Amino acid sequence: MPFSKLGLSDALIKIVAEQNYTQPYPIQQQAIPAILEGKDILGIAQTGSGKTASFVLPILQKFQDGVGSKNRHIRALVLVPTRELAIQVSEVFKTLSAQLPQKVKSLAVYGGVSINPQMIELQDVEILVATPGRLLELISTNAVSLSAVKILVLDEADKMLNLGFKEEMGKLFGLLPKNRQNLLFSATLSDDLNNINKNLLKNPVVVKVEEEIKNLDLIKQFAYLIAEEKKGPLLRYIIKSQKIKQVLIFTSSVHRADAVALKLNQNGIDAFAIHSKKSQEGRNQALDFFKTGKVKVLVATDLMARGIDIKFLPYVINYELPRSPKDYIHRIGRTGRAESSGEAISLISPADEHHFKVIQKKMGKHVTKIDGNAIDLKGY
Ligand code: AMP
Repeated sequence: MPFSKLGLSDALIKIVAEQNYTQPYPIQQQAIPAILEGKDILGIAQTGSGKTASFVLPILQKFQDGVGSKNRHIRALVLVPTRELAIQVSEVFKTLSAQLPQKVKSLAVYGGVSINPQMIELQDVEILVATPGRLLELISTNAVSLSAVKILVLDEADKMLNLGFKEEMGKLFGLLPKNRQNLLFSATLSDDLNNINKNLLKNPVVVKVEEEIKNLDLIKQFAYLIAEEKKGPLLRYIIKSQKIKQVLIFTSSVHRADAVALKLNQNGIDAFAIHSKKSQEGRNQALDFFKTGKVKVLVATDLMARGIDIKFLPYVINYELPRSPKDYIHRIGRTGRAESSGEAISLISPADEHHFKVIQKKMGKHVTKIDGNAIDLKGY
């Protein structure tokens, strides 16, 4: 089914073609016509499924059609869990609306940076992408009003609950006008989230995409069996010997992410760590340098890696395994996206072996093992 069959305007169809979106992704095929019809949506989808454009395109279309007031009030509110996702989603709004005949101003607001520039920029904003805490702060200083919101989007709602935003979200729901359209996107559905669905969504159209399964076959997976204390040298050996140009490395803690990045830098491999304890500027810069190829290694915790959208990531390395098999699949799904194959490498210490067996069983795939202890790591 082509984009032209989804009910979008010619201007938007032209814009998606310029983005090289040849065909709508499954979530877009299902969600776009339903959103245009004014239905509520429950979208079960992950990053990489094309979920952002599935709500951005119909929202832009509705605004061109004149939904809501013309008084430059906030008409669409997108709540997101992290600053990175806020920036990313607002960039999609900006990119896809740049050529539209009727201009729409969108803005990302998030905590961790000074509030004043955001207050100034809020003027004339019609689409606001926000993390819940900062939005409440802005409301409390009367910098923003939600009274004209016609469309509410909750993006990565499961993550928002995991990060403890339940109370803030409740407060925000209470400040929104009753008569509005609700679009909720989440990778998983917990009991908490089901309660929110019940209170928030009216006869939602349920859109579900099993994105990870499709990707797994595109990913070459390897595991190196290695003594814990040799993980650092082995990592440097892999990056150097395979001439890796871009790799996202996962660690289990902020402290370890910093330590791994530091060691890589000390050994002549440019690396940045990205995690919740870094300043916002540091995080933006790390992401920007990584995306543009100025730095080839990004060392991340699971939280920060979520939502990082890079068109093609050739390598993912699990320096440490995640606790849940789902997170493992999510991590390796960062490579092999968009029909390109990628490689996922895990460093498995003796203590990790049992857990790695469980992960393979849950994933339904056997991962080829390499004896890392037999590799000569002298000089690394
Ligand atoms: P998302 O799941 O929203 O993070 O989107 C994942 C990536 O897919 C982004 O880089 C989008 O630009 C890209 N994308 C979204 N829709 C399409 C499409 N129909 N065709 C090709 N790429 C797309």
